[in-house]
Amino acid sequence: MKTGGVPAPIRAAEALRKKLAKIGLYSEADLLLHLPLRYEDETRLTLVERALGGEPVQLELTVVHSEVQFRPRRQLVARAADASGEITLRFLNFYPSQQAMLAEGARIRVFGEARGGFFGLEMVHPRWRQVAPGEPLPAALTPVYPTTAGVGNATLQKLIGAALAEAELTNALADTLPDDLRQRLKLAGFARSLRFLHTPPPDADRDALEARQHPAWRRLKFDEVLAQQLSLRRAYLARRDQGAPELHPQDDLAARLLASLPFGLTGAQQRATMEISNDLARPYPMQRLLQGDVGAGKTIVAALAACQAISAGWQAAFMAPTEILAEQHYLKLRDWLEPLGVRVAWLSGSLKGKVKRAQLAAAASEAQLVVGTHALIQEGVDFARLGLAIVDEQHRFGVAQRLALRQKGENPHQLMMSATPIPRTLAMSYYADLDVTVLDELPPGRTPVKTRLVADNRRADVVGFVKKHVEEGRQAYWVCPLIEESEALQLQTAEETFAQLQADLPELRIGLVHGRLKADDKQAAMAAFAAGDIDVLVATTVIEVGVDVPNASLMVIEHAERFGLSQLHQLRGRVGRGRYESSCVLIYAGPLGETARQRLKIIFEHSDGFEIARRDLQLRGPGEFVGARQSGVPLLRYADLDRDADLVEQAREIAEEMLTRHPALATAHLRRWLGSREELLKS
Ligand code: ADP
Ligand code: MG
Repeated sequence: MKTGGVPAPIRAAEALRKKLAKIGLYSEADLLLHLPLRYEDETRLTLVERALGGEPVQLELTVVHSEVQFRPRRQLVARAADASGEITLRFLNFYPSQQAMLAEGARIRVFGEARGGFFGLEMVHPRWRQVAPGEPLPAALTPVYPTTAGVGNATLQKLIGAALAEAELTNALADTLPDDLRQRLKLAGFARSLRFLHTPPPDADRDALEARQHPAWRRLKFDEVLAQQLSLRRAYLARRDQGAPELHPQDDLAARLLASLPFGLTGAQQRATMEISNDLARPYPMQRLLQGDVGAGKTIVAALAACQAISAGWQAAFMAPTEILAEQHYLKLRDWLEPLGVRVAWLSGSLKGKVKRAQLAAAASEAQLVVGTHALIQEGVDFARLGLAIVDEQHRFGVAQRLALRQKGENPHQLMMSATPIPRTLAMSYYADLDVTVLDELPPGRTPVKTRLVADNRRADVVGFVKKHVEEGRQAYWVCPLIEESEALQLQTAEETFAQLQADLPELRIGLVHGRLKADDKQAAMAAFAAGDIDVLVATTVIEVGVDVPNASLMVIEHAERFGLSQLHQLRGRVGRGRYESSCVLIYAGPLGETARQRLKIIFEHSDGFEIARRDLQLRGPGEFVGARQSGVPLLRYADLDRDADLVEQAREIAEEMLTRHPALATAHLRRWLGSREELLKS
C-alpha cells in the first residue's frame, strides 16, 4: 500500500476536475470513498405488461413510432413495445441526435417508473440507451452517487469504476486495520466492503444498503470515524511534546478566595477544580473544555484556576465574547480577587487613550489577571508571563481567535468554557482532542423555570403579567425579536419595543440595552438593572450569555420561533437564579414552520441543557452544531453520531491502540481518509 507522497489527482479534464472539487473530490483516492446514496436495479428486464407497480423498472423495447409533438408543450413522444405490450415514452428536453436514435425500429433499454396515463402506459423522461440485440445485462446494481451540477451519475460511475480497477492493481485497497483488531470488532474487510458498496450483486439487501446498516457500510463508517479519532488524538498527543509552565501554587491564594465566598463549591465544582489543578501542574499545556449548563457555576472554577497560575508567579487571561459579559466577569473577579491583593486589569475595544495605555502597560508588566473581550488578542497587547488562557463561551470564538490568545504566551495552559452542552457522542467525536470536564450539578437553591408558550395576539396579557410580576418586587427581561438579516432593523425593533412598553407600563422603570449602545451606556443600564433601579430590561440578544441578576425572575422572548434552541436555553437560563419562582414566556407568531414548531416543543418540554442539546443535534445535525469549531476537524459524511454511537465508542478505543501499536497503519489510514484534505490545509 502506498503510504507516502501526494495523493494522485483525478485523471480527468481540468474543467471536470474543477466541478468534482466542488463536492470534495480531488484525488483518485477520494473517488474510492465517494459512496452511493442508493442503487437502481438494471440487472434484469421487466415486461411491459408488468411494468406498473410504483418501482422503477428496466424495459427492453423496439421503437414503433416517434414524433415531436407541440401540445401541451414541445416534446418528443415515442411509442415502443416488447412482446407483451406497448408503452409511450415522453422526453421534454432532447437533442436532435437523440431524436434520430429513437427512430422507428431502434432497440433500446429504458429505465424509469411507468405510470398509467390517459393514453395508456407511459414513462416520462426515462433514462435510455440504444443496445445491440442480446447485449448482456450489468452484473451489479447501479450505484447512484451524490453529484454536482454538470457531472452526471454516469460520469461518476465511470471515474469511480476506473479508480477502483486501478486501486485493485496497485494494491491500494489494503486493509489499514490489523486482522486481530478487525476480528475483535467483527468488521468486514475494507476492500471487500468497498467493492460491495460500489458494485453490489443483484441479490444484495437493498434496504440494508440504503439504510446504511449493511456490514459493508458499517465497515466504511467505522473507518471514517476512526480517521477522525486518529487525527484528533494525534493532535492531542502532539501537544504533550510541547513544554508548558508547571504551575505549582506558592501560596494559599485559592484557599483564601474560597474562604471569602458566601457559598461552598458543589461536588461537581470541586471535582472540576481538582482536575484542572492537576493539569496545570503538568509540564505540557492543558487543553480542557469545562462544560456545564447555564448557571452551573463555571466562573468560580475558572477563578480558582487563575489563582493557581497567579500564585505560581504567572499571569492568567480571561476572554469573553461580548463586552457586557466580559465586563461582568471583570467586576466579579475584581470583587473576589482584589481584596486578596491580586492586580486585575481590564481590556476592551471601547477603552481609549490614557486609560487604555495604562491597562496595556499593566498587562505587559505587573497585572496578574487580565480580563477582556477580543481586545485581548489584538496586536500590541503584550503579556509579561501568560501561563493560563481562559476562554468563556468558547463556541462563540473561532479557532483562529483561540489560537491567537494562546500565542500571547509561550504554550500557556488553556481552559475553555461552554454553556452549550455538547452531547456525549459529539464530545467523543468532534472534541476528541480536548479533555472534557462536565459540571453536572447545579448549585443548590435553584428554582425550576416555568415555561409558557403564548401566541402573539395575546401580547397584552403578557404585558399584564410583567406588571404583576414587578409589583411583587421582581424584575424582568424582555428580549426583542432576532432579526438576522439586518442589524439596523433589529435596533429599530428594540427601540420600538422599548417605547411601546414605556407607553403600556408608564408606572414601571424600563431600560434598554442593545449591541449598538456605547459601552458606558450599556454598562450604566446593566448596572442599574443589577442594582434594582430598572424593573424591566428590554434587550436584544446581547444578554444571551452569562448575565447574572438573581432578582430577575421573568424572561419574555418575542418571536421565540426565530431563535435557535441553544439561544432559547441560554436566554431562559438568565432567570431561575434566585430563590423566587421564575418563568419564561415565549411569544410566538404563527404560522410556524415544522422546525420552529419542533424547537418550541423541545424547549417547552425540557429544561436539561444536555437533553435539549441532544435533540438539537438530531434536528440540525453536527455540521451547524459544532459552529466555529469545525475548521480543522474532519466532518463525518457517512456515520451518524446518534445511530452509530457504538462505532464512535469503538473507534475511540481502537485509535489509541493503533497509535501506540500500529503507527504506520494509523498513518496509512489517515492518508486514505484525509489525504487530500491535509494537502489542502497546507496550501
Ligand atoms: P455559569 O456556569 O453559567 O457561568 P456562573 O459562574 O455565572 O454560571 O454562576 C451562576 C451563579 O451561581 C453566580 O451568581 C455564582 O456566584 C453562583 N454560584 C456559583 N457556584 C455556586 C455554589 N456552589 N453555590 C451557590 N451559588 C453558586
Ligand atoms: Mg458563565
